Amino acid sequence: MSKLDFLTFTLAAMFPACAAAQTNETAKLLQELIRIDTSNPPGNEAAMAAFLKTKFEPLGFQIDIYPTPDAKKAQFIARLKGDGSKKPILLAAHADVVGVEREKWSVDPFAGVIKDGYVTGRGAIDFKGGLAVFAQAVMMLAKNKIHLTRDVIFLSEADEEGGQYNTMWLSKDHWDKMDCEFSLNEGGWIIKNPDGTVRYVSISTADKSGVSLLVTARGTSTHSSMPRPDNAIFTLSKAMAKIADYDTQPKLIESTREFFTTLEKTSKPPMSTYFHDLVNSDDAAAVKKADQAISQDPLLHAIMRNTIAPVFLNAGFRGNVIPGSAEATLNLRTIPGTNTEELISEMKAVINDARVDVTVAAGRAGMPGGAAYAEYQKMAARLTPSTKDSELFRVLVQQSNAIFPGVPVTTYLFQAGTDSAAWRSRGIPVYGIYPYPISAEDLTRMHGNDERVPVDSLQQGTDLIYNTLLKVAAQ
Ligand SMILES: [Zn+2]
Repeated sequence: MSKLDFLTFTLAAMFPACAAAQTNETAKLLQELIRIDTSNPPGNEAAMAAFLKTKFEPLGFQIDIYPTPDAKKAQFIARLKGDGSKKPILLAAHADVVGVEREKWSVDPFAGVIKDGYVTGRGAIDFKGGLAVFAQAVMMLAKNKIHLTRDVIFLSEADEEGGQYNTMWLSKDHWDKMDCEFSLNEGGWIIKNPDGTVRYVSISTADKSGVSLLVTARGTSTHSSMPRPDNAIFTLSKAMAKIADYDTQPKLIESTREFFTTLEKTSKPPMSTYFHDLVNSDDAAAVKKADQAISQDPLLHAIMRNTIAPVFLNAGFRGNVIPGSAEATLNLRTIPGTNTEELISEMKAVINDARVDVTVAAGRAGMPGGAAYAEYQKMAARLTPSTKDSELFRVLVQQSNAIFPGVPVTTYLFQAGTDSAAWRSRGIPVYGIYPYPISAEDLTRMHGNDERVPVDSLQQGTDLIYNTLLKVAAQ
């Protein structure tokens, strides 16, 4: 043992709540996680489960690995037993990542390199960084022999980035292993200013939902040598042009009101005025002006409204036939509480053409069909935002204030879907956080090239989560 190792060892023993000695451990763990290529498809999360078992089992965790019909995929659960006086807390992180355009990376995306103070590799932010932080914080409870009042469950998820063997699949047969009082997952951001200080901490209490709609234009099917005015492809094109020129109205909910108010407090004019007007103004012109300015940022544009994105076009089958119909599929990402029928009426009103119909794209474009769609709708209706009135939320805010003094903490609406529906649809609060301060520039690399997370941010995240667990599960 070197002198330095001895010093850090002693400090860790004296101040168990201070994770400084463990920080390099989180970065090192993240390097190892990145080296297991879990690009989905195919996923390969079974290899991750086998690796995690070697880390957790020697520390006394109860391990459950659930194989899926796809032999390369598995769900991994590690449980550290408490005295049972409170219901468990669960920390969930998806093990799969999206694929890479390898030639566009400056380093091997699966080598887990540390470069310029960053761990760089696919999943560094989404969500192997979070998996490393959650795993490290949970393992520290065992290493430091903390007496727990509740079980602490760590779940490494398969198929979050796509595929069917996700947490919903797991919950059908193994809900008893996932049941908890509340849980942590991916979601909000800890955003840094250009000078490196933390601007705000956001914790997601809800995710946007999604629905795909089919826009179908009809016309006369006939020989292409004698075109008629009711050509389905032209009709669809005109309908799509109207949708392209249209945008939905801002629709704020409690979490986004709080979020935009936080942005107001942490911005300078004129942006602070725009954020203020978006939340508070009754003047439609002022709100419109604010919306236009704020919507320059695609993320902010997305979290304040239902978004519309065309994703497929389909028409025609022969060079000498005018087809009788033409279709476009729209993927809409919706604010919690949005009614699909109202959304369809809105799209029909925008198109305003009796030859064009809008329906749910059931059974296509990722939407379940038939009875499964009805089941999906019922489940989606139960996805209400998680309460701020819980011990876990309060402690997260408190610990965030301790680590980032003076930095506002706000709720947030996650702009996409996550694997939290398995819990939220059962009324169990889920709080989402990417537990590491990152810059807006780092954020653009997520799902992109040279994805990276600062090494020191992993330390701060581990401190935040470990200290939160000490309060919530050990007192
Ligand atoms: Zn993710």
